[in-house]
Amino acid sequence: MAFINKILQKTKHKIGDRDSSGGSSNTMMLEKTILPDMDSPTNPPMLPNTPAVSQPHTYSTMPPQKHVVPSNAPMPATHTNVAVRAASFSVGAYGAHQGLCAGQTQPTQPIQSQQQAQQQTQHQQQHQIQQLQQALTAHERSYEDTHVRLDEFEVFRTVGTGSFGRVRLVRHRTTGKYYAMKVLRKSHVVRAKQVEHVNSERRILAECSCPFIVYMLGTCQDRQNLYFFMEYVVGGELFTYLRRYHRFPPPVAKFYAAEVLLALEYLHERSIIWRDTKPENILLDERGHVKLTDMGFAKKVVDRTWTLCGTPDYLAPEVIQAKGYGRSVDWWALGILIFEMIAGYPPFYDEDHYRLYEKILAGRIQWPPQFDPVARDLVSRLLTADLSRRLGNLHRGSADIKEHRWFAEVDWNRLAAREIPAPLIPPQKVAGDTSNFDKYPETTETYGDMISEDPYSNLFVEF
Ligand code: AMP
Repeated sequence: MAFINKILQKTKHKIGDRDSSGGSSNTMMLEKTILPDMDSPTNPPMLPNTPAVSQPHTYSTMPPQKHVVPSNAPMPATHTNVAVRAASFSVGAYGAHQGLCAGQTQPTQPIQSQQQAQQQTQHQQQHQIQQLQQALTAHERSYEDTHVRLDEFEVFRTVGTGSFGRVRLVRHRTTGKYYAMKVLRKSHVVRAKQVEHVNSERRILAECSCPFIVYMLGTCQDRQNLYFFMEYVVGGELFTYLRRYHRFPPPVAKFYAAEVLLALEYLHERSIIWRDTKPENILLDERGHVKLTDMGFAKKVVDRTWTLCGTPDYLAPEVIQAKGYGRSVDWWALGILIFEMIAGYPPFYDEDHYRLYEKILAGRIQWPPQFDPVARDLVSRLLTADLSRRLGNLHRGSADIKEHRWFAEVDWNRLAAREIPAPLIPPQKVAGDTSNFDKYPETTETYGDMISEDPYSNLFVEF
């Protein structure tokens, strides 16, 4: 267990740094507020087959908190509880008959022998190298295409905070369209040794053009900050809905899992691993479809990488063991996500990170009654520590997951075309509605400083 001690020292140290600096000392209410409060006082309707929302729910295994990302950087704000706001949804009966479309039930792949697995790994690696070469040459958007000016936008309220900065609603002065502006303080990024991750986030977002991944309009920088301008995803975080309803009925969980799978498949085809699956990073657009956000830990990986990053509850055993890992970690995390959506809490949880990592490595899962044998089979195959047996990591890749019986009724072509109606339609009263996001203390900081000295001018040349 020496590696647990090592990793623990690392993460504890990082969390300790974050906690001690507080990070919210410079937060004050913004003088000029921006959009009217659009919270609706109506009760949220129940999801189909969901126990009444009013039923008291005790978190015996997990508090209703956000997943914590270990980080060196000060957090702009720590939020322990998600404010559960009332909202009105149009949730119809949702299930196999309605949205997901009946299809053929396909048997899952038999478990492979070690030798076959080794050959397949070699084959997979060659394939990955080819893909990476293709991806590097197929960079479609130029620097000019992805460069914007800060003064093109009016800045409104904060809709989210991340490890190194905050995300705010902005409006383009000419087109009137709303976007999300992610602001990263350069000094925090440098102190947290995240320069490479941030540059990689920019490159990856510029390369991605996938309906299930947030679209980046462009970036820019001033002396203090880096700015990402992305499409504004009005429905907010899947996390909020999951905590509001406590858990999702399996057909609802299946819809989100299937769309996330398509996003992961898109990234993996470009040799990108996401490494940050969690309900907070899965947003819902105005029609309730999934958009992954936060590519801060995403990385182009030909073979293997060793960096310890991600969110503890979602870390795969090979990351904890510092073995070197690849796209397999995203399939593990998909298993955690499916479990969390159906159960309402993650399969491995402990406030103490040492014990959490021990639990992940031990791999013992207690299955709540919401799991039928088919769902349990899929999640167990994803949460398999042995990489030569983990579903998604075999020679047929994601096809094995898509053909698992749990996804039998999914029409993948219609899903990819976003033709399958989503189970929840987030409320949106006006364009730029922020009522689906938590409220955060605002800062008085100004943007656009081009006067003070910039000691980091050579570090972020692509912004
Ligand atoms: P990040 O720093 O990228 O993890 O983002 C922090 C939070 O900001 C997310 O969890 C969302 O709540 C919010 N957010 C990020 N990107 C967007 C976006 N494109 N549209 C709306 N909200 C966003």
